Amino acid sequence: MRILVVEDEPTLAAQLVEAVQAVGYVVDVAGNGVDAHFLGDTESYDAVVLDIGLPQMDGITVLKKWRAAGRTMPVLILTARDSWHEKVAGIDAGADDYVTKPFHMEELLARLRALIRRAGGHASAELTCGPLTLDTRNSRALVEGQALNLTSHEYRVLAYLMHHRDQVVSRGDLIDHIYAQDFDRDSNTVEVFIARLRKKLPAGLIETVRGLGYRLTAPQ
Ligand code: CA
Repeated sequence: MRILVVEDEPTLAAQLVEAVQAVGYVVDVAGNGVDAHFLGDTESYDAVVLDIGLPQMDGITVLKKWRAAGRTMPVLILTARDSWHEKVAGIDAGADDYVTKPFHMEELLARLRALIRRAGGHASAELTCGPLTLDTRNSRALVEGQALNLTSHEYRVLAYLMHHRDQVVSRGDLIDHIYAQDFDRDSNTVEVFIARLRKKLPAGLIETVRGLGYRLTAPQ
């Protein structure tokens, strides 16, 4: 899962990036509205944390431009305290949820998890596929209740596949959602992560769909 964090206050931006990375997401960060608009318009994100008060272009305008261009990723806005009109304007502009500053990081992370899982059509914080469970609250994968020992990249690949269970996911999709923008991407590494995951998972969970990509599906 790949998140865009848009916040112009450097200390808060750094705290957000650290917290979001710590729960297994990859993060890009923008400190002004123009950069934010460009990234959200050209890159693939599973969710965006968007401050409203931003230099160069305010968050409401950024959000309106994304929505007008058909960008549908979930967006959580950060609003100023006692500023109910920002919430109204943000939701009307296409925000999916909001938190008011100052906020507890745990609340923001819970709201982010909920947005990501709802975007994938999942009702619960625990995603399941046959014997496999992904607990998005603590970034753990379990097989029949036993925790799997995964590297951060393996976890990201598995989490993306679990959020898109029974769908074909291309290598390009995986690359877009497991690496941050500045990371040196190599499509061959996806095959390496899939091979490692297959060794750690029950046989048959990850299918190769020839020429298209991979599909995570419960064995019959
Ligand atoms: Ca701000």
